[in-house]
Amino acid sequence: MLKVLKFGGSSLADAEQFRKVKAIVEAEPERRYVIASAPGKRFFEDEKVTDLLLRCHALNKDRNPFDDTFQRISDRFHGIIRDLGLKLSIEDELETVKKAIANGVSVDYVASRGEYFNSMILADFLGIPFLDAEECIFFTADGKLDSKKTNTVIENRLAMMPRAVIPGFYGVLPGGEIKTFSRGGSDITGSIVAEAVDADLYENWTDVNGMLMADPRIIDDPAPIDIITYRELRELSYMGATVLHEDAVFPVRRSGIPINIRNTNDPADKGTMIVPHTDEKSEDRVVTGIAGKTGFTAIYIEKDMMNSELGYGRRVLETLERRGISFEHLPSGIDTVTVVVHTSALEGKLDAVVADLKRNVRPDTIRVYDNLALLAVVGRSMVSSPGVAARVFATLARENINIRMIDQGSSELNIIVGIADKDRIPALKALYKEFAPKK
Ligand code: ASP
Repeated sequence: MLKVLKFGGSSLADAEQFRKVKAIVEAEPERRYVIASAPGKRFFEDEKVTDLLLRCHALNKDRNPFDDTFQRISDRFHGIIRDLGLKLSIEDELETVKKAIANGVSVDYVASRGEYFNSMILADFLGIPFLDAEECIFFTADGKLDSKKTNTVIENRLAMMPRAVIPGFYGVLPGGEIKTFSRGGSDITGSIVAEAVDADLYENWTDVNGMLMADPRIIDDPAPIDIITYRELRELSYMGATVLHEDAVFPVRRSGIPINIRNTNDPADKGTMIVPHTDEKSEDRVVTGIAGKTGFTAIYIEKDMMNSELGYGRRVLETLERRGISFEHLPSGIDTVTVVVHTSALEGKLDAVVADLKRNVRPDTIRVYDNLALLAVVGRSMVSSPGVAARVFATLARENINIRMIDQGSSELNIIVGIADKDRIPALKALYKEFAPKK
């Protein structure tokens, strides 16, 4: 059994958090490889070290002094080292970074130093070796992850190292320059390492007890999700439910490695398991999660005998493609097709697209619905439970919410409904009430 662990910024924000991390790592011998983020927020108004680093870079770029901001970064690292009683000295290296910033070093290099120092400190505290991401995470010249090289190098290096701490968030370009992933990218590093060492589990330690059935900003105290499949996760993430960096899912998913989202501040909680497949079903949990997102536009096209007109759908999509617009959903009837796109993708193009469509596909009717929100009711158990769709529609009807569009994925994993933006929150509340597990 082999586990790769990633600890987020709030899990490594101060010495007290470092102690929790140590207890977690040492609780199981199979917890061998640890990916660390930069120190995050200790309290609500606090600032992440990554943000402070980025500010230093920005200040210097505008020829402003950045000494005070840099001092705060230095104080945070020194505070952790002191409070943990470590002998590690990073003074000289911090000075080198400060000089490099003053000399205009790249923003990615600066941003990456939070992970670098925090991982060195963690390695020292855990008493296990440090492996720099610059030696094992590789990008190609055009800035994409070089998966092949990365995989091989990590596999070989870690074969010689039974345990290691590796900084998240960055790697190296062919020329030797540091490059970071997008924000929150330590999740990706963890996933890459888990794949390369063929881990049995990727534990992603954060400050919540895993995923929730609905957005806690909208629903009071939503039920936690114990287990969710990768497909379900994809459907819910698309609608804005996020716990993990989107790109972090692919490496482990590809290898069928489960992810366990856990809470550093509540290690007794089992968290959420994200798995390739599961047979686990519960009568009480026909629906795994409910999410909704605004910002869509639907173009509704009607034409008699559309079904028998060869190439009709293709011409509709081709028209959009020529304007560089990709579609999100495509529900259709015998004589109708609706193309749902992100409203932002149509900016400044809507009139032209409608004119193109009128010319290219000669619809009997064409209507544009703006301010559309999409809701997704997602659940692997829906396939075997008749009547879920009926319950969704009845619930919305009871709330007097008008449904503008319905799409049921062919996998029967999700039901998507399009409604007016203004109805999104009441709809989510009503649907949650209908499908929440009975306590
Ligand atoms: N420290 C980086 C950020 O704040 C990366 C991470 O924490 O995953 O985005």
